[in-house]
Amino acid sequence: MKLTALSAFSDNYIWLLHDDHRALVVDPGDSAPVLTWLQQHPGVQLDTILVTHHHADHTGGLPDLVEQTAAQVVGPALENMPVTAQGLQQGDTLDWHGLRLHVHDVPGHTLGHIAFWGHPEGQAPLLFCGDTLFSGGCGRLFEGTPAQMLDSLDRLAALPGDTRVCCAHEYTLSNLAFALAVEPDNSALRNHAQTCTRLRQHNRATLPVALSTERAINPFLRSRTPSVSAAVRQHDASACDDITTFAALRAWKNTF
Ligand SMILES: [Zn+2]
Ligand SMILES: [Zn+2]
Repeated sequence: MKLTALSAFSDNYIWLLHDDHRALVVDPGDSAPVLTWLQQHPGVQLDTILVTHHHADHTGGLPDLVEQTAAQVVGPALENMPVTAQGLQQGDTLDWHGLRLHVHDVPGHTLGHIAFWGHPEGQAPLLFCGDTLFSGGCGRLFEGTPAQMLDSLDRLAALPGDTRVCCAHEYTLSNLAFALAVEPDNSALRNHAQTCTRLRQHNRATLPVALSTERAINPFLRSRTPSVSAAVRQHDASACDDITTFAALRAWKNTF
């Protein structure tokens, strides 16, 4: 299985997975980058589209792609899609040419947001997490509560450490600037920020990123770590338990 990140809009990635014959894409907010790639790879047929949540920058390309390729669409059972879609939720699986994808409910950014995790044979696992987990950050809470998002992130963080995290946006550098404000003495975070700065200087993606790296550098996966929770309490004295600490961390990022 080969993994590619197609750029869309200013900072979206449409993840594309293929085996030289069949392809799937994740969250095609725009059909154009996908159709261009398919034209450049005439032996590959798009047969499946995965969708993590209902926002237009993740679903805008669906009508055009379905019309042009007749690909099946698989999305969150609890959210409306602009095309006919198979709705999946926690515990459901989808088999795609030998790859079994497991569906996780990850409410917070939106209420019905789902993520897909799968383990291609002989390769590191893959996580398509949409706008729930970003490198160094997490999605804004548009619909869900801090408690829901913390629980969603806890469950993603419990996946195998070698999982390649495929986020839907290139937000890494601004997330890492905030992460460094929270944890200035985290050496893994400082090293990762240097690596990502170099990648972006060469216009390269900072993703996918290993989940084990995220556990070491992402403050939203580390809100119970003493260095993070102490920094949050210093910023907002009302943070007193896991959920209020996470909520205060997310609110701090919103104004950073
Ligand atoms: Zn979104
Ligand atoms: Zn988005």
